[in-house]
Amino acid sequence: MRREELNSVIASVRAYLELERESGIDECYFSADEIKPAVTEGAPKDLEALKKEVLGCRGCDLCETRTNVVFGAGNPRAKLLFIGEAPGQEEDKQGLPFVGRAGQLLTKIIEAMGLGREDVYIANILKCRPPNNRAPLPIEILACQDNIKRQVEIIKPRVICTLGKFASQTLLRTETPISALRGNFREYPATHLTSGGIPPERDKWRDNGIKVMPTFHPAYLLRNPEDKKLVWQDMKKVMKELKERN
Ligand code: URA
Repeated sequence: MRREELNSVIASVRAYLELERESGIDECYFSADEIKPAVTEGAPKDLEALKKEVLGCRGCDLCETRTNVVFGAGNPRAKLLFIGEAPGQEEDKQGLPFVGRAGQLLTKIIEAMGLGREDVYIANILKCRPPNNRAPLPIEILACQDNIKRQVEIIKPRVICTLGKFASQTLLRTETPISALRGNFREYPATHLTSGGIPPERDKWRDNGIKVMPTFHPAYLLRNPEDKKLVWQDMKKVMKELKERN
C-alpha cells in the first residue's frame, strides 16, 4: 500500500470514529476509489474562465464588503458536488469554501465517506460573505445564481449534496423546510419549473442527469450533534447512488 493510500485510510478511520462517537454511525467507507474522479489534475478551461470572471464580480453590494470572492474549490471533474450557503468570516479571509469550524466537520464527513476534499467539489450559492454572516438577501441570490448554475454545467457532477435550508431551497426552487427535504433525492434542474409532457430535464435526469440530496448544514450539526446520524444516513444514500451509477 502506498503512503498516500495509507494516509487516506487513516484519515477515513479517524473521521469515522470521531463521527461515530456522537452519532451512532454503523458503517465506514475506508476507500471509495471507484467513485473518485479518474483525473485529478487540470481544471477544465471553462471553469478557470468562469472563476476569472466571478473574481471580478460587482453584481451586488457584497462586493463592497468582501475581502475575497469564494468561488469554490476541489476537483473540477468531481462526481459529487457539495453546495453551501455563503462564505463566513474565515472563508472570506482565505478565499476558500468551508475552511472554518463547519468546514472542518464537512471535511470529516467527506473522509468518513472514504473520500478527500480533493475528490469532490465544494461551492456556495453566494460567492461573497454577507456582513456579519446575515442571511443572504433575495437580490443577492438573484445576482449570484447564474454562477452556481454555470459551475454545475461545467463540473457535471452525478450527485449534488445541498447543505442546509438555504442551498437546498435555492437550488430546488422550493420553500419546503429542510427537515422535510433532507434524505430524499430530487432532480436538478427542478422539474416543476417546466411544463407540458415529460420535461426534457426529467428524461435527462433519469438517464444520466443530476440527483440532489439535501441534508443538514454542518453549522447546524455543530449546534445539534444528535442529528449527525441523519446526515450520515443521507451520505450513505449518496455513496450508494454514486457507486450504482459508476
Ligand atoms: N457555511 C457555508 O455555507 N459556506 C461556507 O463556505 C462556510 C460556511
